[in-house]
Amino acid sequence: MTREPSGMELRAHHKRVTGMLEDPECHDDLLALGIVLAYFVDFEMAEKGKGGLMRIARRAFTNDNKLHLRHRIDGLIRSDIRRYDIDAEPGNRNRRWSVLCGAPMVRRSGPCGQPATQHDLLVDFDTGRGHWAGSCSRSEHKKWLREVFLRNRAQRNDSAAAAPAPAANTGGVLARHLPEINWERIYLSYKPNWTPPPEDHPWTPPVFTLYLGDADEADEADEADERPALAVIAGRGEVIRIDGATS
Ligand SMILES: [Zn+2]
Repeated sequence: MTREPSGMELRAHHKRVTGMLEDPECHDDLLALGIVLAYFVDFEMAEKGKGGLMRIARRAFTNDNKLHLRHRIDGLIRSDIRRYDIDAEPGNRNRRWSVLCGAPMVRRSGPCGQPATQHDLLVDFDTGRGHWAGSCSRSEHKKWLREVFLRNRAQRNDSAAAAPAPAANTGGVLARHLPEINWERIYLSYKPNWTPPPEDHPWTPPVFTLYLGDADEADEADEADERPALAVIAGRGEVIRIDGATS
């Protein structure tokens, strides 16, 4: 950027990057991309206008050739499209392999409970979410699973009884830290039939609170234990303190 960022801008940027670093879903390549995008949004977008994603990404992935970079960024963005993913359900990815036979027993109540040797994906018609059902190798239990699956699939194809669209459970990590970017447009460019999925909790991206400098702010800065090594405090008249030094 051509001019020095103001204390307020530095503070907003610090808050944004801290949010990414503290977000357990924002890591590895996604974090690297997020940080260069944050730099662009916070310090350059106002001057340069729209920025090309690949050009910005190149700052974080310098060793990639053009084609490899494109491939890598495409993969990153695709995996971060806000969506429902059955494998993102808590435990689902591994549960498939540890699911137990759910066939009802004849001589006792409750399901069979043997380790399953085959699985089918069933949709819950109240929530639209998926879960795995399994059966052991007993032929009558395999038959039970088959029937359950076919019944579920028939219901899935019956539009009158259609399950609701399941609430999003993955993706959207960069969007929640970088709400200034039009992610819907980006998602659509990767997945033309994408529509915003329903959300369990109204999904409000963080809104940055820019502190314009008042008495409360000075109090905050006095909490020395909490202060990071590099503290930037925008006060009245753009006072910037680094490690306690006032400039
Ligand atoms: Zn069984």
